[in-house]
Amino acid sequence: MLEIDFIPAFKDNYIWLLRRGDRAAVVDPGDAAPVMARLQADGLRLEAILVTHHHADHQGGVAALAEYWPATVFGPADESIIGCSRPLSGGERIDVLGQEFEVLAVPGHTAGHIAYRMPGAVFCGDTLFGAGCGRLFEGTPGQMAESLARLSALPDDTLIYCAHEYTAANLDFAAAVEPGNAAIRRRIAQVAEARQAGRSTVPSTLAEEKATNPFLRCSEPAVAAAARQRDPAAKDPVSVFAAIRAWKNVF
Ligand SMILES: [Zn+2]
Repeated sequence: MLEIDFIPAFKDNYIWLLRRGDRAAVVDPGDAAPVMARLQADGLRLEAILVTHHHADHQGGVAALAEYWPATVFGPADESIIGCSRPLSGGERIDVLGQEFEVLAVPGHTAGHIAYRMPGAVFCGDTLFGAGCGRLFEGTPGQMAESLARLSALPDDTLIYCAHEYTAANLDFAAAVEPGNAAIRRRIAQVAEARQAGRSTVPSTLAEEKATNPFLRCSEPAVAAAARQRDPAAKDPVSVFAAIRAWKNVF
């Protein structure tokens, strides 16, 4: 079994640390220094670096880590990832520390964004967040809606390892979209308690996201009705998604 832990970075990034014995891999190392410190403190050897997309807070530490460790660098083929030795575009199966991962193409936040799935867990970068989703910097609403549908089709108990601690702010928006959703109110209380105690709210489960994340709920009548208050033309799930995403940008 792989052990999964996080290394905090910047203000609210999570660099996921995978380990098996003294072998390690990291996901989205935006900063090398905290990763090096943790590897050395725990006596770990870095064998693999998994990058979901090209933003600096996800790949800024790759060059320094790959210079120090002979690690395989996995990353999206369609994006510029410094030192990438295994370009991926979705559909591949890769071995990381003896564990098979499936690569999923999830464009929208960026054009080549990928996610890494193993049984029971998915590392989804800035695509799906706790109660939210990434901004559309390079993709269209249709692409992002399709990417979220791909993640949403995973088993309900899948753990969602996203790259930021954004859950509390996202839930405020979710409650504005669906004021009548009791699951959102319960999650707001749980998340407030976790944050007050200094705990991470990531990972969540896909089941929790399906119950509380407005971007996975665009087929729900309440979410569609909220979207139509912003954009009367929002009818099908993609235009509902587009309207909700545009609203979140100014929330
Ligand atoms: Zn990003």
